[in-house]
Amino acid sequence: MSVLRQFDPWNSPLCTCPRKYSLHPYTGCTHMCLYCYATAYVGRRPSQPKRDFIKRLARDLRRADPRLPVELSSSSDPYPPEEGFFGLTRSALKLLKAHNFRVLITTKGTLFTRDLELVDGVMVTITTLDRELARKLEPNAPPPEERLKALKKASEVVRIGVRVDPIVPGLNDDRKRIKELLEAIRDAGAEHVVTSTYKARPDNFKRMVQAFPEMEREWRRLYYSEGVRVGGYRYLSAQLRRRIMEYVVGEALKLGMSAATCREGFPDLLRAKSCDGTHLTLREKGI
Ligand code: SF4
Repeated sequence: MSVLRQFDPWNSPLCTCPRKYSLHPYTGCTHMCLYCYATAYVGRRPSQPKRDFIKRLARDLRRADPRLPVELSSSSDPYPPEEGFFGLTRSALKLLKAHNFRVLITTKGTLFTRDLELVDGVMVTITTLDRELARKLEPNAPPPEERLKALKKASEVVRIGVRVDPIVPGLNDDRKRIKELLEAIRDAGAEHVVTSTYKARPDNFKRMVQAFPEMEREWRRLYYSEGVRVGGYRYLSAQLRRRIMEYVVGEALKLGMSAATCREGFPDLLRAKSCDGTHLTLREKGI
């Protein structure tokens, strides 16, 4: 079975991603973010290397189109702690480089700084600068300041961006804090920001209310009474989403970064060459 697949946004009618391949060296994800959407599809379990991954990738690359960029990874993390031991992502990157593919890394890990000579663009997710909140929300991912440090290092070599994603009402939607986060991101050398609001699914919602029981009533009101259903997800109302997204995009633009939203349905807030950071894989700045 093939491991290099054209990106599938799980039937989201709101996805604005360009055509790209998606590659996942690991199944599951040790980072265990409470809000993770992938758990509804693959369950909640630590990262496990895919069997015969490199052999299968080599076979897939023989008939893949090198004009399309490859993203590692859209729905698992290519740099879980296990990567330090298995080196599966690194082996995949070497193979992709040998076949002249452009590579975009999307991660919450920091180990990507080891592989900078093999990648073209990097998107790191940072949802908050609050270390305690990050530890609760993303228990096994490196703390935000380490992610910023890794970004800074990477920015000397490749084009970088940040996913401020997701924004959860009552947790990380404070405007002053968002502004501070965006400033830190810009100071680390990021040139692009993509943002989204949290979307509830039964399994991630259950984890979120278990960790933040004081928010349950408010979130039920915002997502289930006043919110809307899009695909299999509960979204905040369009009005509230718009207000949050407009603020993040506006502040990022003011700081001189490009910006976009992810699966929100506001085409006018796409203020970049791509929403997902694919354009960072093009070498010259400004493309
Ligand atoms: S890093 Fe991404 S794939 Fe891994 S648990 Fe967090 S949200 Fe899910």
